[in-house]
Amino acid sequence: MKWHSLSKKVLGGKVIERGEARALLESSDDELFEVLQASFEVRRHYFGRDVRLHVIRNVKSGNCSEDCGFCSQAAKTNSRIPRYPVQTVEEIVEGAREAHRMKAVRYCIVASGRTTPAEEIKLICEAVQQIKREIPIMTCTSLGLIGLKEAEQLKKAGLDRYNHNLETSERFFPSICTTHRYVDRLSTAKALKKAGLELCCGGIIGQGESLEDRIDLAFALRELKADSIPLNFLDPRAGSRFETCKRIQPAEALRSLAMFRLVNPDHEIRAAGGREACLGAMQVLALFVADSMFTIGYLTTEGQGYQTDIAMIQAAGFRVTDVTDVG
Ligand code: SF4
Repeated sequence: MKWHSLSKKVLGGKVIERGEARALLESSDDELFEVLQASFEVRRHYFGRDVRLHVIRNVKSGNCSEDCGFCSQAAKTNSRIPRYPVQTVEEIVEGAREAHRMKAVRYCIVASGRTTPAEEIKLICEAVQQIKREIPIMTCTSLGLIGLKEAEQLKKAGLDRYNHNLETSERFFPSICTTHRYVDRLSTAKALKKAGLELCCGGIIGQGESLEDRIDLAFALRELKADSIPLNFLDPRAGSRFETCKRIQPAEALRSLAMFRLVNPDHEIRAAGGREACLGAMQVLALFVADSMFTIGYLTTEGQGYQTDIAMIQAAGFRVTDVTDVG
């Protein structure tokens, strides 16, 4: 296939077909640069050479009742991670100040758990209100399954966006989690949209899913009109259920990223967790597809470091987005 024809099709307002998405995922390493060029044309059309930096803060870690196989925060894992209760408003706000100093456009407040108790939602609302008053940065939270009432409460506090990933296809979901269902995640995503919050919703590649599962996820996110799609690459954590999974190869990760871009052309796409571990020396190529990335690490793992991230962005001729350009 001439991969350029796919970017032409997408930029002409058409949707790529599942067969084309499959062909892209099955393309050879020799075709990788043509695939990346096609997705770069789409990325450049909608986002130029901008890179939106996000900073994530784990405000409550570990002891989760759920059994997501990829996650080291599940209570039943014996992962060696810090476990702590919810942080104070001041600690959370201080994290936003640090994120702003790093030129992040968005600060994401994450708490482990199936759901978040009412008093903790109230505390996080207070933190969001203070951040919105004092710091020029967009806000996001990720607090597990949530209903319309709580979503509206967060929206009223000034929250901009909420993250809740579908993680994988509906078909494969029972293989990664047995304590809640795909449909529960879908309902949360729909409640967030209904409350008027921006929806950040993505998934994880490399959990043993098939190519069809990846395509299902890409199209499900398109249907949901997810404003932002974080694509994670499984970096198997010691002690988690998926600790023996093998990391996917860099070229495979890049092809997956390219497929998500072509299916969701104008959505923010983030090269998220596992970027450094799975892409290795090829991670700079992710910038030609994704318009966004986390800096200074993830929930329970370190990144490659802020200065290295900035050097990589600049060396490849990209530009860190200023918050005033997206606010
Ligand atoms: S991904 Fe979230 S819900 Fe699943 S085990 Fe980890 S913290 Fe719990």
